Amino acid sequence: MVTQKVLQKMAKRHGTPILVVDHDVIRQNYATFKKHLPRVQAYYAVKAFADPVVVKTLFDAGASFDVASMPELKIVYKNIKEMPAKERQDWIWDKIIYAHPIKADKTLQELNQYKPLVTYDNHEEIKKIKKYAPNAGLALRLKVPNTGAMVELSSKFGAAPGEAVDLILEAVKAGLVVEGLSFHVGSQTTNFDNYVQAINLAYSIFQEAKDRGYNKMNLLDIGGGFPAPYDSTVRPFSELAHKINVEIDRLFPKEIQILAEPGRFMVATAATAVSKIIGKAVRDGKVCYYIDDGVYHTFSGILFDHCQYHLNSFRKGAKQICTVFGPTCDALDVVSMSEELPPNLELGELLYSNNAGAYTIASSTPFNGFPPAKVVHVNR
Ligand SMILES: *Cc1c(COP(=O)(O)O)cnc(C)c1O
Repeated sequence: MVTQKVLQKMAKRHGTPILVVDHDVIRQNYATFKKHLPRVQAYYAVKAFADPVVVKTLFDAGASFDVASMPELKIVYKNIKEMPAKERQDWIWDKIIYAHPIKADKTLQELNQYKPLVTYDNHEEIKKIKKYAPNAGLALRLKVPNTGAMVELSSKFGAAPGEAVDLILEAVKAGLVVEGLSFHVGSQTTNFDNYVQAINLAYSIFQEAKDRGYNKMNLLDIGGGFPAPYDSTVRPFSELAHKINVEIDRLFPKEIQILAEPGRFMVATAATAVSKIIGKAVRDGKVCYYIDDGVYHTFSGILFDHCQYHLNSFRKGAKQICTVFGPTCDALDVVSMSEELPPNLELGELLYSNNAGAYTIASSTPFNGFPPAKVVHVNR
């Protein structure tokens, strides 16, 4: 991780707010993932941090990608286009999965030329894919338990287990090819049994499909949700990986390709937000700092990702509970009501926040005219 000195140097050079991205950490996270899940190909979920430089680092490390819109696809595709022709396939499945179960007609029309691998979870989508993207390969997205995830997804997507095989056979009957299954256990999943249950459920769907005459499924996509070590309560990744390995080796023969879509895990720990104190007041006896980054900007994850970020001072010394506000006029723009900071910080001093790589700048808005933090890349 970049040192405090580097953070201060970067803030001086680029001004604030900035988001400092350490590409060595991204490479380490990818290596950790591969080391503990050797059978699983990682498709980095671009939405976690859709920066082309981040995508390039992961591409060079050997990652594949989960995209959910044409702009995301194009960020990744640029790297594929630049590969030597002999290393390129005429399909993109080994590098990209389009993992949004609901796609607009126009998106499907555009996708078709790439012969993409796409997910689906309902009847209407089969008709749309048949009509607009018949070259696509399909993965059925299953609804699986999301208990204990910080961000729940099962209310919006996923076929119920009871209708799964009907949806597979219906797509096949329409002349499409169903390559396999996918699921998402919910983001920042600290309940590791969610993966175990979901893998077992997927196995039972594979079996039922076979029993009902369809045995062409050859991939299982275990989705995202791998927790970032935000604090010491998150159990080690190796423990989760072990559980997953045991289940996939027990239930799925080697010919079945296993994919995963880690977003947060790859980037959360790789970025540090640095902001500046631009105002200070004492309200109801409590010190309130106003900084130049907030919940409409890098700290948008407080709202959209149910995530809390800790602010730190570069200065040592006694700490007190303070409030930290963002820069906009909106009273919703509160970074923290209870941050432990020195009470005597002065205007112009810097604060920093670790683990700010996932779902932060990705959902930053230009609200109230305040521009997003500048992204600064180190060790690329
Ligand atoms: C958001 C998302 C991911 C990434 O989830 P993380 O929790 O960040 O790993 C993966 N797959 C799909 C389909 C998603 O929507």
